[in-house]
Amino acid sequence: MKRVLIVEDEEDIRDFIVINLKRAGFEVLEAESGEEALAIIQNEKNLDIMLLDIMLPGIDGYKVLKKTRENNSSIGIIMLTAKSQEIDKVTGLSYGADDYIVKPFSPMELIARIDAILRRINNENNIENKKILTSGIFKLDLETRRFFKEDKEIELTQTEFLLIELFLKNEGKVLSRNEIIDSVWGSDYFGDIKVVDVNMRRVRQKVENDSSSSEYINTVRGFGYKWGKDK
Ligand code: CA
Repeated sequence: MKRVLIVEDEEDIRDFIVINLKRAGFEVLEAESGEEALAIIQNEKNLDIMLLDIMLPGIDGYKVLKKTRENNSSIGIIMLTAKSQEIDKVTGLSYGADDYIVKPFSPMELIARIDAILRRINNENNIENKKILTSGIFKLDLETRRFFKEDKEIELTQTEFLLIELFLKNEGKVLSRNEIIDSVWGSDYFGDIKVVDVNMRRVRQKVENDSSSSEYINTVRGFGYKWGKDK
């Protein structure tokens, strides 16, 4: 579920947005001040979109925008502006906002803007040489070599890392033991093929909710293994 943070001091507008986004299937977080927004951004790592009002008491929307962009380039940010703030749109975009929307707006228009940004972010992630592989609640970062199940990090050995990488790149595909050996241990490996099973058992203990279940990793008897549902 995509997560949206709404930063808006006017309760009526905030409630209106919250209701409509929830109805559209988003998880929604709320902040009524810039200070509150920055605190949420620090603590919540998996925010997809921020809807950011410019005129806020205390820290205004621009400052929240600048602060957020200092260490988060991935969150999509849509500025909420009043009609009288024409000039501010330009400022917002130059500070790193992805889009702006002028109040009052319809829920449909807002959701269309959000979807457009989510699509763009998704495309960038796919095209940007696949530094992060994902599958449902799992995320494998190929640069930092870290693996996460939801937000919980799972420690992997080198071999386990290569196995997970192979499976996430071949989601839904049955891989034979020989294919796994070639890809993870190298085609010059002449040891016992059972090494695959031993390691797969360990991987399964780490990824499955219950080590005897096969929610994520399926054994295909006499052949090999498969990550995820059929393709
Ligand atoms: Ca306001």
